Amino acid sequence: MTSIFTKIIKGEIPCYKIAETEDFLAFLDINPNAKGHTLCIPKKEVDKLFDLDEETYNGLMSFSRQVALGLEKAVSCNRIGVSVIGLEVPHAHVHLIPLQSMEDVRFIKKEKMPPEEFQELAEAIRSHLEI
Ligand code: AMP
Repeated sequence: MTSIFTKIIKGEIPCYKIAETEDFLAFLDINPNAKGHTLCIPKKEVDKLFDLDEETYNGLMSFSRQVALGLEKAVSCNRIGVSVIGLEVPHAHVHLIPLQSMEDVRFIKKEKMPPEEFQELAEAIRSHLEI
């Protein structure tokens, strides 16, 4: 079955895009732990991160690092945290989460934002990227 992230890649579902290359895509998490919470995914649909072939895995990590460096400049935070969960969407993805405290990595405290704020945040992050 096609994952919701593959539908985003194909443009069938909208997203707040942060960066895109031939093989990877980054977009804002729709239910963020913190402002700027971003997901980095391979366009190749594979459920579990460690089942990715080595080239795609390494490429995803390198892409995530580039996104994180821009994200850290765009959003006020202590540092960018990284999580890999995958219990909700069976399409490998890296969570990049701007952290102020441990609360921000618990996936319990959620940030509510209107669409305009998602849009503005995505633009601000994009302006700090070199991808
Ligand atoms: P997990 O699979 O447990 O790592 O969680 C999947 C993440 O994807 C959650 O943080 C969701 O808020 C996020 N998510 C699910 N659907 C969308 C979507 N259409 N756009 C952006 N983020 C999404």
